[in-house]
Amino acid sequence: MRTKPHTPLTSLAIIAALLLVAGAYALGALRARADLLEQGGRQLELMAPDLQSAIDKYETLPFVLGFQPDLAEAIAHPGDAAIIARLNRTLQTIQRQSQVGAIYLMDRSGLTLGSSNWDQPTTFVGKNFSYRPYFSEAQRGRPGLFYGIGTATAEAGYFIAQPVYRDSTDGGPVAGVVAVKISLADFEQTWRSSEHTIALADRHGVIFLSNQPDWRYRSLRPLDKGAQQELAQTQQYAGQHIASLPQPLPEYAVRPVGKLGWQLMLFPSQVRVQRAALLSAAGMALLLACGGALWWALHQRRRRLEEQKESRAALRQAARDLELRIAERTAQLQATNSDLEGKYAKLQQTEHMLRTTQNELVQAGKLAMLGQMAAGITHELNQPLAAIRAFADNARTFLARGRPEQADANLGHISDASARMGAIISQLKGFARKDEAITQVNLARSVQASALLVDNDFKRRGVALETGDIGGNSITVAGDAVRIEQVLINLLRNALDAVAGMEESHPRAVTVTLARADGWAEVRISDTGPGIPEQVAAHLFEPFYTTKPSGQGLGLGLAISSSIVQAMNGQLAAQNLPQGGAQFILRLPLQANEP
Ligand code: ADP
Repeated sequence: MRTKPHTPLTSLAIIAALLLVAGAYALGALRARADLLEQGGRQLELMAPDLQSAIDKYETLPFVLGFQPDLAEAIAHPGDAAIIARLNRTLQTIQRQSQVGAIYLMDRSGLTLGSSNWDQPTTFVGKNFSYRPYFSEAQRGRPGLFYGIGTATAEAGYFIAQPVYRDSTDGGPVAGVVAVKISLADFEQTWRSSEHTIALADRHGVIFLSNQPDWRYRSLRPLDKGAQQELAQTQQYAGQHIASLPQPLPEYAVRPVGKLGWQLMLFPSQVRVQRAALLSAAGMALLLACGGALWWALHQRRRRLEEQKESRAALRQAARDLELRIAERTAQLQATNSDLEGKYAKLQQTEHMLRTTQNELVQAGKLAMLGQMAAGITHELNQPLAAIRAFADNARTFLARGRPEQADANLGHISDASARMGAIISQLKGFARKDEAITQVNLARSVQASALLVDNDFKRRGVALETGDIGGNSITVAGDAVRIEQVLINLLRNALDAVAGMEESHPRAVTVTLARADGWAEVRISDTGPGIPEQVAAHLFEPFYTTKPSGQGLGLGLAISSSIVQAMNGQLAAQNLPQGGAQFILRLPLQANEP
């Protein structure tokens, strides 16, 4: 399988997937927050009335207490210890029954005359609360409501104050103030179980109740000058420094509570939001992974199909190519074939032409030779003929003058000259003679017969003729015995002429050998003569070429011999020997059944 490198497209897909996951995360967070806010809103709808009723429940308590005679009596006689003690006990009893934080009575100046916690170390008795807004409100004849940290107990609480009149029936001037302190710590306790942050803030936005301890006494937004001054004056939070929460605040659900402009708030749990967002992101990632896997599977399948298609196409193409190549090759072969045929035809034509040309050349050669011969014959015969005519003319003159002896002598010369002409003509007969039938010839016998015929001449001129053990040789050739002997005699005579011309001291011998060589019967005639000069060798086999003085040689011997040998399909060649002298080689085809 091919591993594809990361293309820009894959990178883009990865980026898109990451963006989608991030989007799902953000969207999940948004939705979760909205859901939680809505849920929080509903939760607050239940919580707020709870809180409200807890506060409202005690609102009338100080009003009712205002009618207690013990209170009026204590105001009337603040110095009477027995009256104060009774007041303290009464307040304590009521406090225990109504389960409020504290109940206490202040005179007109704000000084606490009696309190339910009279026997506690943090008792309010003797403390002055004139600076508290609830006191001044009640002093003005209105119910005073306040939430703050107790300066004596350092415990936060909700204070409800009502004026106390000297005569509770007709009203008149306010003689004192009775206050009830309610602890809201229980609410905080119940909120602890919630995973969301729940906070209760006053009208300045200062949180005074929260299930997050570090949110307590923090403001929702930075406090302005007026609010700060007011807090300092009323000692609402016992001089605590109120710092603002980090801004901006997360979204929250809110509901007003009570008569003091309070706000009950619920900040959805960030952990819950994150968890929901992560879940959404994971869902998206899973979806994408499934989608990706599906796409990959489809892609692989498509690619496999494509590959199959491609390979099928390639196969078809290869088959087509092969067919094409075969067709091409066939065409080439046909072309080559027809080319060869053409060439062959041309070759045949050429061969035919060559043969005709050769025949023509042979014919031309023969004609040329005939011309040469005619010229030679004319020359050779002209002299004796002229001599004969001269002798004959003279003979007639001698006869006319009555000198028959001289005429007779002339006739003798005429006879000689005609004999010479006859000799020339007899030699020419070799050309004229028709081919004899070729028979088996014992070459050794022919050599011996020829040697015998020239033996007298050799002896006379003092030249040795060595034929060795030729007699024991029995080599049979196809040819004409008479003509073979004619050639051999001619060669032996030439050799004799060559050796006889040498000085007496020079070795004077002609050697004849006979052997088989490469399917030929070979006769070598070697002499100790001067050898064949270069310029002679070029014309050796030409008719009428001779180096001998006129009358001794006609220059026809080798020409005739050569034509005889060729007629028998043989060869005649000449060479000079390294030790001096010439050697003529006669080759004749061996008889077919010769080994
Ligand atoms: P002819 O003998 O009448 O001259 P040939 O054709 O037989 O005519 O020979 C031609 C020439 O070849 C001779 O004149 C001679 O010069 C040369 N020749 C032939 N045989 C020999 C030889 N054995 N040694 C040297 N020269 C030779």
